[in-house]
Amino acid sequence: MNQEQIQKLVKSLLIEIGEDPNREGLAETPERVAKSYGKIFGGYNENPKDIVTVFDNEGYDEMVISKNIEFYSFCEHHMLPFHGRAHVGYIPGEKIIGLSKMPRLVDVFARRLQNQERLTKQVADTLTELLEPKGVGVVIEAQHMCMQARGVNKQHSSMTTSSFTGGFKKNMATRTEFLNLINS
Ligand code: ZN
Repeated sequence: MNQEQIQKLVKSLLIEIGEDPNREGLAETPERVAKSYGKIFGGYNENPKDIVTVFDNEGYDEMVISKNIEFYSFCEHHMLPFHGRAHVGYIPGEKIIGLSKMPRLVDVFARRLQNQERLTKQVADTLTELLEPKGVGVVIEAQHMCMQARGVNKQHSSMTTSSFTGGFKKNMATRTEFLNLINS
């Protein structure tokens, strides 16, 4: 990301929406936006394989769940924020992942322009690829500012997406156990 170029673009944008980029409150805005984009869109420079540490399961073969992972992303249609919670579960094969890495994994994909469906699937697919588990379940609930702020009159609606693989897809009891645990 070229910070200087982003600053220039933000300044042009301010002018186009009818602002005076030189007034006091906006003087530092292009710089702030450019800096925040480094974080908000930092996921483009991250590879999940570098983040996820994988361990031997040491005989543990029951469902592992990390729930209520808060995340912030930007919708690719409007470049407006959507945010919510991700619930991620899997049944280990030979390998397990450090629990603290689950939120990091969600962030790698959330910190890009996204749609919620793809974000959900990318988390599930990446866990499947890295852990070769017996199944993965991912549920994401989020509120989209593009729906709330544009006067579509859906201020309180949220959207839920899910992705299931392996045992979570084939076995209804497994899926129900997961859904009960994330809703408890
Ligand atoms: Zn949108």
